[in-house]
Amino acid sequence: VTIERLGLSDALRAWSAAIGGEHVSADDGTLLAASTATFATSQHVRAILRPGSLAEVQECVRIANRCRVPLYPISSGRNWGYGSRVPPQDGVLLDLARLNRILEYSEELAYVTIEPGVTQRQLHEYLRQRGSRLWMDATGASPECSIVGNTLERGFGHTPMGDHCGAACGLQVVLPTGECIETGFSRFEGSTVGPLSRSGVGPSLDGLFAQSNFGIVTRMSVWLMPAPEAFSAFFFMCHGEDDLARVADALRPLRLNGTLRSVVHIGNDYKVLAAGGGTPAWHRAGQGPIGADAMAAWRRSVGIGSWNGSGGLYGTKAQVREARRQVRRALAGKVDRLHFIDDRRLRLMERFAAPFKLVTGWDLGATLDVLKPLYGLLKGIPTDSALKSAYWRKHTVPRQTNPDRDGCGLLWCSPVVPAVGSRLAEVTRLASDTLLDFGFEPQMSISLTTERSATCVISIGYDRATPGADQRAHECYARLSRALLERGYPPYRLAVTAMSALEEAPAYADLLRALKQAVDPAYVLAPGRYEPAVDDRSARSLDVA
Ligand SMILES: Cc1cc2nc3c(=O)[nH]c(=O)nc-3n(C[C@H](O)[C@H](O)[C@H](O)COP(=O)(O)OP(=O)(O)OC[C@H]3O[C@@H](n4cnc5c(N)ncnc54)[C@H](O)[C@@H]3O)c2cc1C
Repeated sequence: VTIERLGLSDALRAWSAAIGGEHVSADDGTLLAASTATFATSQHVRAILRPGSLAEVQECVRIANRCRVPLYPISSGRNWGYGSRVPPQDGVLLDLARLNRILEYSEELAYVTIEPGVTQRQLHEYLRQRGSRLWMDATGASPECSIVGNTLERGFGHTPMGDHCGAACGLQVVLPTGECIETGFSRFEGSTVGPLSRSGVGPSLDGLFAQSNFGIVTRMSVWLMPAPEAFSAFFFMCHGEDDLARVADALRPLRLNGTLRSVVHIGNDYKVLAAGGGTPAWHRAGQGPIGADAMAAWRRSVGIGSWNGSGGLYGTKAQVREARRQVRRALAGKVDRLHFIDDRRLRLMERFAAPFKLVTGWDLGATLDVLKPLYGLLKGIPTDSALKSAYWRKHTVPRQTNPDRDGCGLLWCSPVVPAVGSRLAEVTRLASDTLLDFGFEPQMSISLTTERSATCVISIGYDRATPGADQRAHECYARLSRALLERGYPPYRLAVTAMSALEEAPAYADLLRALKQAVDPAYVLAPGRYEPAVDDRSARSLDVA
């Protein structure tokens, strides 16, 4: 049954009446753009709805139920590397960008309550304009990314509030039937603690709405952190998988004992150099991947390691001083360089970059260009500088970046790995071999996201205009994901083309299906999003042509 036969035209008329025709798009150009990700997909966006209020969201959902048209919510739709705006099956996008109010802000209790359209830039400016002493967390994706959208994909950032799901609560959710609920303590009329405490009383439902298709989040409270009395970033580099393993083993105890309160990121040479933009001039278009030897020469010439780490130290002056001492001691003899940088040192470096270059020949200004955005992220300041890495194989980066429009190939495979050196080395070796085998450079980062586990982001970066590259990227992703899973490293997040490929334990899959049936009897909300692999739902799938 196609969605046209299920009533798309009736639904479009009803949606136009409900939210205004100007907020319903169905022209070919717009739909083609929305159906384009940074890798090959075959799903089609059939229309885009932009409701402007909770009541309009509810009405859109009720119409979808009546006309049986699948509806896919997005907040800012910049889910690059995992599928951008493209839904897992054909359907209509419910774009929540117009719901962009910051509804509540408490300096005293360090939180904000926001709608899904609120972007990283918007919150950052909001806090700055109020002279707030609070820091938000930010991801390395664009400042235009939605905070709610990222949280619902279980995204992570760089500060002590970097576990976004862990720092969010009091969700307002429109269920697939159009009813609205609030989670945690927010569900009690007049509650004073909804934005302050996560679990509430009784079963906790927040987790049901991340990486699922059980509801549309229209409001969320997000915790912020008071600016610490002292802050210092640290940067280090090391060489080869063995050193990487030793460094990870040295940092884990500091994560576990609370010395390191935030995510430590360790990027390989490909990842760091990709952040500077396209491949170098000496590597011509059409050539195969930059192999290990060429990369070794390149990284030596720019003075980076094969692994390059950064992290932040937060606290009182005494705490930061002690944390520095601990980090220095833990990494002694294991890293090539270890630098601590704070605001004062950064200002000095900026001031003396030009004379320094004259005297030493070292282009400190260029180093600062790479360093400063990273330093800012550790303080929750969003940046668009990382987006240049999407243009790795494009050789030039336009002023207005848009990886979907510009044919940037970007497919991310993101396993979770114990924070144990030998495990991390196994994963990075496997990823490196697999990507090079398929003709891609292995851009990788390891983030010590929790005290005990790390998230590796393995980026398959390519030019979508290269014949066969899209197909190769999918094959590479599938082979690598399978190999990782077999070794016990499941993904923390999935590309839209892989969302129904995860085989769940039967009882777990049954429970997920029963929950879906209970909350979405008409099966209209985001069919195919993070659903078990084999099931009986095809009988009631809405969009099988
Ligand atoms: C260079 C670069 C750096 C990146 N760095 C990071 C990083 O540091 N950390 C990180 O986590 N990611 C990172 N990413 C990946 C990605 O770009 C971000 O995670 C981004 O925030 C996700 O897109 P979004 O915020 O627009 O969310 P959206 O695309 O709006 O949402 C993501 C998905 O969540 C669901 N959803 C969204 N809103 C709702 C809602 N209100 N109700 C129900 N479901 C909803 C939808 O299924 C949607 O497809 C990076 C990407 C690039 C290219």
